[in-house]
Amino acid sequence: MPETHWSEDQVIAELYGVGPGDDHLSHCPQCRSRVDRLMQERQKRIQGDLPVSYDFLAAQRRCVLARLDARAAWWQRPFLIPATALLALILVLSMLNPFRWSGEPQDTGNTSYSDSTVFEDAFARAYSTEPEFSEPLQALFEVKP
Ligand SMILES: [Zn+2]
Repeated sequence: MPETHWSEDQVIAELYGVGPGDDHLSHCPQCRSRVDRLMQERQKRIQGDLPVSYDFLAAQRRCVLARLDARAAWWQRPFLIPATALLALILVLSMLNPFRWSGEPQDTGNTSYSDSTVFEDAFARAYSTEPEFSEPLQALFEVKP
């Protein structure tokens, strides 16, 4: 069975030191020259001897910008606004849920806790710029009358 020449993948693998590992290069001058030519090219690029053309850089920039535009387009999809509104509604409802942490109604002992107070607290938490994890730290410095 005649031996076939290395594929492009095998040549590239040899270039990075993980080639097929057989002795094909020792008796095939064509594949040897392909590997040698690519190794020389790689060394030149590593050393920076080859100038990068303006067209290559422009094409690279266009690719990057196209990917960024594609990503931005994902955020502008129409389902995102209703999904965000639904998540906000779930968040507000979960904050209003008196069974949130313990699974049992919380007895605050304060019967004057009206719906408007609940809404104020919920919106204050939802729109607060301060992270929630800082509340225990603030509680340390509260002065109780
Ligand atoms: Zn060959």
